[in-house]
Amino acid sequence: MCESPLVLCHQKSEQIWVDREFPMELSMKNEEVPTAADGTTENKVLDKQQDDEEAKMKKMTDAVRTLIECVGEDPSREGLVKTPLRMAKALQFFTKGYHENLETIVGGAVFEENHEDMVIVRDIDLFSLCEHHMIPFYGKVHIGYIPNKKVLGLSKLARVSEMFSRRLQIQERLTQQIGNAIMDVLQPQGVGVVVEATHMCMCMRGAQKPGSSTITSCMVGVFRDDVKTRQEFLQLIHSKKLFS
Ligand SMILES: [Zn+2]
Repeated sequence: MCESPLVLCHQKSEQIWVDREFPMELSMKNEEVPTAADGTTENKVLDKQQDDEEAKMKKMTDAVRTLIECVGEDPSREGLVKTPLRMAKALQFFTKGYHENLETIVGGAVFEENHEDMVIVRDIDLFSLCEHHMIPFYGKVHIGYIPNKKVLGLSKLARVSEMFSRRLQIQERLTQQIGNAIMDVLQPQGVGVVVEATHMCMCMRGAQKPGSSTITSCMVGVFRDDVKTRQEFLQLIHSKKLFS
């Protein structure tokens, strides 16, 4: 599950995502900062952000405590005392994609280039939550595109995938959103996205089919119009790795 993404085109994607505690660091709260033009100090803005975060965290932990009670457990039991806070923090991390946007993710990483052959980053790890049960689904994302005078920093393809997957999702929409985002950012000749994932809500409950996987694809431009391009993409994402 945790192999690093393989980048075709003779380069290996660097792991660029830096884990950080979520919510964002608010350690600047007490630092001296100049007064803004509208009379609001930056400290006040940060204080308000921190108050909002604290109120949100209280709501979330109260909700988890309620859930624990409703399943018949005792939230004051030693092993469960800190569970509401742990779960709230975990849930915030799992949904951090709501606080990111395409502009900041790809900012500065679009380069003019005459490369006109297919670029693929495959085997990008995917961890998401299905929006119907808020239960994880996980797997791999493969992204390919044919540039039209612009290329994107390779690691950014993984970042785009991460941004959309760290939200409440259905796999079909996730696949589409990744494809559309690459189209928006690069206006390439075409984009192909394939997502292969296992849905825990199908394995642990409902159909109870462990081992099943769901495959979705989004083909745009030449990937949709040209059979050979699509076949080349599909062959490359499933070809044997030359190294690992
Ligand atoms: Zn589900």
